[in-house]
Amino acid sequence: MHELGVLDEFLKRLHQKQVRQIRARIGRDEIVLGDLSLLSTHCRFMVMMPQWEFLDFLAEQARRHPTFHLRMETEVTGLIEENGRIVGIRGNAPAGPVEVRVDLVVGADGRNSVVRDCSGLLVEDLGAPTDVLWMRLSKHANDPELFFYADRGKALFLTDRGDYWQCGVPAPKAAIAEMQAKGIEDFRAAIVELAPFLQDRVAELRDWNDLKLLTVRVDRLPQWHRPCLVCIGDAAHAMSPVGGVGINLAIQDAVAAANILAGPLREGAVSAGDLTKIQRRRAFSTRLTQRVQALIQKRLVGRGLRNPGPTRLPWLLRLLERTTLPCRLRNRVIAVGIRPEHVKTPDVSNARSAGPVTHNPKM
Ligand SMILES: Cc1cc2nc3c(=O)[nH]c(=O)nc-3n(C[C@H](O)[C@H](O)[C@H](O)COP(=O)(O)OP(=O)(O)OC[C@H]3O[C@@H](n4cnc5c(N)ncnc54)[C@H](O)[C@@H]3O)c2cc1C
Repeated sequence: MHELGVLDEFLKRLHQKQVRQIRARIGRDEIVLGDLSLLSTHCRFMVMMPQWEFLDFLAEQARRHPTFHLRMETEVTGLIEENGRIVGIRGNAPAGPVEVRVDLVVGADGRNSVVRDCSGLLVEDLGAPTDVLWMRLSKHANDPELFFYADRGKALFLTDRGDYWQCGVPAPKAAIAEMQAKGIEDFRAAIVELAPFLQDRVAELRDWNDLKLLTVRVDRLPQWHRPCLVCIGDAAHAMSPVGGVGINLAIQDAVAAANILAGPLREGAVSAGDLTKIQRRRAFSTRLTQRVQALIQKRLVGRGLRNPGPTRLPWLLRLLERTTLPCRLRNRVIAVGIRPEHVKTPDVSNARSAGPVTHNPKM
């Protein structure tokens, strides 16, 4: 937002708070998973903002461009292909079916991407052993500000949403039916065991209908593109929730794609080479991040969820936690990513003068 020159306007939008530290309780130990105040970026905090508010802000900014069109409540259902080239998309809108013809389709429709499914691009499934049960519990003024709890084979994420906690309970895919068979009381008791302050409100989970199962998928496309079509974000490489970095990568793909495609699109001549450049620019950080996520999943999350005994922080983590350099490195990997992208396209909207946008060279 800073690089786009819209940070001040962005921060005027409703948001819960600016988080500087991400803290967790693992077993009996309280640790800092990430300290964003140590970053050397323009913003040294994370903003918690409702998704619709964030998307509405993006749409508002995009409307400054006279050629921007947003079709609400319109779902892509297929691709239009002519002579082996993709020339547009088919969709369903409130008024009925629509067809949109374009120079380039960008599949940015997430881990269950319809664009990717219809494109015929191959998918390499990397396997995801854990799903997440998702629920809300109300938030009280004096609640502790911890983000993650783990002990005795159970874990709980809590995200501050103002008047409620968005809670996530990761569980092995195979164990979810077993948890449901044991009943909601057992599930409530497990939450209270991890975070006793929730005792007075776990009854808000009346039955399993108050929980949603989010299916985790981890995969990637060996090739992200074909003529006139490119996939980015989770559509190109579905990320696991480990480390909370998937959104970061998706946004960086979009920035890289915009930097590479702005010129060719303006000239109406996007080549296969341009689409290859996007994958070449982004594939390394994606593969490395997925590898690190898989390692954390196997060594820490998987082992932790299989161990019913008291959880102890591994000595290596304890050591890393107290050592400045690994701490700074971890903050940077979580918040900035492995190969940060910078906005390099000029702002050509009516509302602002054309010229390259500013960016923070420190990132
Ligand atoms: C349980 C879980 C928790 C996670 N937690 C975190 C976290 O805390 N932090 C983090 O950084 N990452 C997290 N991730 C990963 C993160 O959600 C993804 O990596 C990230 O959202 C990918 O962004 P995206 O824009 O590619 O896709 P998405 O965020 O999935 O966005 C895709 C968009 O496309 C739209 N869409 C889908 N299909 C169609 C269609 N047919 N027609 C039109 N529109 C369509 C959707 O409505 C959506 O708006 C989590 C993942 C899971 C599964």
